Amino acid sequence: MSAPRDPRAALPAVDHFLTADRVARYGHARVVAVARAALAEARRGAVPPVEVIEARVDARLRPTLRPVINATGVLLHTNLGRAPWSAGAIAAAAEVARGYASVELDLATGRRGARAADVVDRLRALTGCADALVVNNCAAATLLMLTALAAGRRVAVSRGELVEIGGGFRVPDVMRASGAALVEVGTTNRTHLRDFASAVADADAVATLRVHHSNFRQIGFVSQPSYAELAGLAVPLLVDLGSGALAPRDGEPSVREALDAGAALVCISGDKLLGGPQAGIVLGRADLVERLRRHPLRRALRPDKVVLAALRATLDAWLRDEAVPVRAMEAADLDGLRAEVEAWRRALADVCDAEVVAVEGAVGGGSLPGRTWPSWALAIASPAPEPLRAALLAGDPPVVGRVRQDRLLLDARTVAPLGQGEALVAAVRTAARSISAPG
Ligand SMILES: *Cc1c(COP(=O)(O)O)cnc(C)c1O
Repeated sequence: MSAPRDPRAALPAVDHFLTADRVARYGHARVVAVARAALAEARRGAVPPVEVIEARVDARLRPTLRPVINATGVLLHTNLGRAPWSAGAIAAAAEVARGYASVELDLATGRRGARAADVVDRLRALTGCADALVVNNCAAATLLMLTALAAGRRVAVSRGELVEIGGGFRVPDVMRASGAALVEVGTTNRTHLRDFASAVADADAVATLRVHHSNFRQIGFVSQPSYAELAGLAVPLLVDLGSGALAPRDGEPSVREALDAGAALVCISGDKLLGGPQAGIVLGRADLVERLRRHPLRRALRPDKVVLAALRATLDAWLRDEAVPVRAMEAADLDGLRAEVEAWRRALADVCDAEVVAVEGAVGGGSLPGRTWPSWALAIASPAPEPLRAALLAGDPPVVGRVRQDRLLLDARTVAPLGQGEALVAAVRTAARSISAPG
């Protein structure tokens, strides 16, 4: 009797995975590395069939950053890249990406020009700001503002606004990174003008900073001095607005309101506030914006031509009062959404047991906390929600839904306005079949 053969001996060699198609797509070196890793993994545990290893190799070779269908109903989903761009932004970005562009060339004089000049021009028209500067994101904008204006000096912040926005953005940490010293004033729920005034008079604060709570709300016995009151103190008022709004809306703090009240500088997020590309924008007093522009850190935080072109086109849409996709999704008509989900249900009746249900969505991305948006969703009870959720994530394109009370919810608000309804139906059909298929 011979000993049972070691199943590991039957595993193919790396060469087996080096098909012409894979090598042409992903390059020899990477296919070798991925195949080696998959084989090493197969040797460690119960040895899987070769087809399973093939599937693992292909899954690992595929890019991890891919378009997905967002069926969560969360309009600005940070994990899903926040705002879909407008058609104008996409066209403008593609146009400058393809060739060279006048990023820092003044076409009137042929000399070196200001980066982002046409973005600044549009921001002036939209907000009334004197000047503006564009960086990589709002975290970078806040960091640059504090570094350029207050490194080695003190900035007064209310204890009610020492917040964490998410993704590691914490106000005390950003202050520390900037080299500015934090002077905490007031209490968690109430801070008064006199608290800030004494930080300026007695603790030598060179600026006051207000931070938008963004992703949470304080209610009850709470107060903060207004922008106008703070702007009346002897030092500049800096505002980290992040999300908020351009002009007053839904009780959200707005850029215009802050600037009109006398804020020296306001930082906003280009994707959250404008529904455009990821960008941070500092707007306000020309002399202070110029100090930021001259600071060496700015060179490290500047955006590229693609972002500048997309941002310019996004601002044009706002100036023309055209809804960028995020605003169109916010405004999508409820009856239309319901009809769309009803069509999904009918199209999937042979593979899913599902109902059309009313749901509450959120803006997300730290915008409009506590504010929900009524919407309609397909609630799938069978196939079982967890396996279906996983199969949808593994699909192409992946679909992201949410499981609530033993049903998988697919919200139409973030799908239908983008014209992705049919693709979603096809993806659910494939995923449902893959689960019910034998084996
Ligand atoms: C979201 C937010 C930030 C960070 O913005 P990013 O563009 O994600 O870097 C900073 N401050 C506030 C108040 C925010 O809401």
